[in-house]
Amino acid sequence: MQVYADNAATTKLSDTALQAMLPYLKDTYGNASSLYRIGQTAHHGVQAARETVAKVLNAETNEIYFTSGGSEADNWAIKGIAELMAKKGKKHIITTSFEHHAVLHTVKKLAQYGFEITYLPVYENGIVKVEDVKNAIREDTALVTVMYANNEIGTIQPIAEIGAVCHEKGVLFHTDAVQAAGHLPIDVKAQNIDLLSMSAHKFHGPKGIGALYCRQGIRLPNLIEGGAQERGRRAGTEAVYAMAGMAAALKEANDNLAENTAKVTALRDRLIDGLLKIELSRLNGDRKQRLPGNVNISFEGVEGESLLLYLDMKGISASSGSACTSGSLDPSHVLLAIGLPHEVAHGSLRLSLCETNTEEEIDYIISCVPEIIERLRSMSPLWERIQKERGLA
Ligand SMILES: *Cc1c(COP(=O)(O)O)cnc(C)c1O
Repeated sequence: MQVYADNAATTKLSDTALQAMLPYLKDTYGNASSLYRIGQTAHHGVQAARETVAKVLNAETNEIYFTSGGSEADNWAIKGIAELMAKKGKKHIITTSFEHHAVLHTVKKLAQYGFEITYLPVYENGIVKVEDVKNAIREDTALVTVMYANNEIGTIQPIAEIGAVCHEKGVLFHTDAVQAAGHLPIDVKAQNIDLLSMSAHKFHGPKGIGALYCRQGIRLPNLIEGGAQERGRRAGTEAVYAMAGMAAALKEANDNLAENTAKVTALRDRLIDGLLKIELSRLNGDRKQRLPGNVNISFEGVEGESLLLYLDMKGISASSGSACTSGSLDPSHVLLAIGLPHEVAHGSLRLSLCETNTEEEIDYIISCVPEIIERLRSMSPLWERIQKERGLA
C-alpha cells in the first residue's frame, strides 16, 4: 500500500486546480498587460484569481499580492515592514521561537542590520500566550509576527487575540498562515490581521505561487522594481496559470472546509490513539488546538531518520523531527522550543493527513509502526539505557 502522509510538506494538485490552469498554459497565453484580446483574457484571469483569494480571506481585492510562495510572502512582509518602520526609528520585532525558517532566518538577517528581536516562548503545549505578546510590545516595536498554525506540531495560535493586542498598542501584526489557509477559517478583518502569508501547494494548488495579504493603507515597500504588475510592488509578467490554479484550489478547500475538517480530524484522532498505544510515546503539541491533519509523536529510544526509511519501505511517506534530511544533524527547533530533550526530539515522527487519506490507510500505518519501533529499539544502545533507567529491563 502506498500512503502519502506528508501533506504539511506539500500536497497533490487537485483536479479542479489543474483544470483551472490548463487554459492559461495552452490557448490563453497572452501577456496580462497587453491590450489585445488574449492579453485581456489573461488579465481577467488574474483579476478573477485575486478576487477569489480576497473573498476567502474577507479581504479587499487590492489587498492581495501574488508571490512565488510562502517564503517570499514572509520575507516581503517582514523585510518590508522593517524598512518602513526603521524610518520611524522602530527597530524591534517580536516573533516566536518556533516559526518556520522563512520567518526565523529573515528576522535573524534583520538582527545583523541592527534590529532587536524578541522570541516569545511557546511552552509545552506549543501555544503562544497573548499576555506575553502584550508584555513584549515596546515604544519601538515595528512588527509582531506569529504563525497561524505550526507546520511541525500543528498547534493553532490565538491569532485574533494577538491581533487585538497589537492594534490596541498600535503595532502591525503579520501572520504566516501557510499551514492554515485552506485548512482553517480565516477572516483578516475579524482577526485583526495586517499582513498574512499563504502558499498554494499546501492546499492542493500548484507549487511556486502564493500570496501576501497587506491591509490597505500600509505603505509596504516594493519587492521587485519593474513593470506595473501587483500594483507596481512586485514587477514581472504574471504567471496567470499559477494564480488561477491557486484560486481554484483555495475556493475548493474553503467550500469543503467543514466537511474536510470533520473527516480529517477523525482520521487524525484515530491515528493518534493508535500510535500512542506504543510504549514510551508522546504526542507533541496541544491535543485539541491543532490542525485537523497533524500528528506528531515522539518515540523514545528511536532515531527519526531510520524510522522514516523503514516507513518508506512500507510505502508510507512521512517526515521526522530532526532536520537531517536538510543536511543538519540538529533536532527540530520546534521540538526543542516545546522543551523536548534532544534525544527525544530525534525520535519524532510527523504524519500530516488530508481529506483523500482513508481509514484503511490510517490502520495500515498503525499496523506498521509498532514493529518498526520494536526493531529499531532492539538495535539501539539508547533504548537499552532508557529501559535500565526506568527499571523496564
Ligand atoms: C511551507 C511553509 C512555508 C514556505 O512556503 P513555500 O511556498 O514552500 O515557500 C512557510 N511557512 C510555513 C508555516 C510553511 O508550512
